[in-house]
Amino acid sequence: MAKNLYPRCAKCPTRICENWGGKADGPPPSLDKAPAFCPMKLMPDIYAEAMAEYEKSGVKDFARLASVQEFQCYERHPDGLKTRIPRIEELIQFSRKCGYKRLGIAHCGGLAYEAGVLTEILENNGFEVVSVQCKTGAVPKERIGIKPDEKIVGPDNWETMCNPIVQAMIINRSKVDLAVMLGLCIGHDTLFIKYCEVPLTVIAVKDRVLGHNPLAALYTSGTYYSRLKNKVD
Ligand code: SF4
Repeated sequence: MAKNLYPRCAKCPTRICENWGGKADGPPPSLDKAPAFCPMKLMPDIYAEAMAEYEKSGVKDFARLASVQEFQCYERHPDGLKTRIPRIEELIQFSRKCGYKRLGIAHCGGLAYEAGVLTEILENNGFEVVSVQCKTGAVPKERIGIKPDEKIVGPDNWETMCNPIVQAMIINRSKVDLAVMLGLCIGHDTLFIKYCEVPLTVIAVKDRVLGHNPLAALYTSGTYYSRLKNKVD
């Protein structure tokens, strides 16, 4: 692939795949207005390959239910679309649609309170809720090569490692219908996703300073977090 010719939807000036005002029974958008880096131009073959996946057992219906859920998160009013429900309710509604009975929360120890509240809400809505926190196993950080001066609680104190692999294994063995990630650290979440063998969604990601809302730094990147936009060599 030529230099700078790789998919970059985040830099697309037209987003013609989404915003061309077509009719339901009309043709798809012309690619003339798509940029050269558009994946529809760079990798046209891959779309047929992906669409074939939807024909596999259960995949199309799962995708359909996800889109029905998406639809039900809006209300159409004369003055435009309005949003309806927070993600917690979206999780409940989608889990019901899929017929899920048993949900498995994989949470950070730092979000134990949130895990408790989420469990109560999900149980009150009729779900059985398995939960496992990151520190389960009580394995010291030295086991993965952390040095004394790399421990958050100080060099002389016991510090349990986060163990996303065992979290995933416990979630897998607990036969949950859906795993729900709650506030795992970057990297720990990557490992959890790698080892989780059941359908997986995310209710929240960790952001220690922004109330687990990392996008707040983007929304304020024109002001308080403008340093984030500084170019580094
Ligand atoms: S798929 Fe193509 S047209 Fe759509 S946002 Fe990406 S670059 Fe733009």
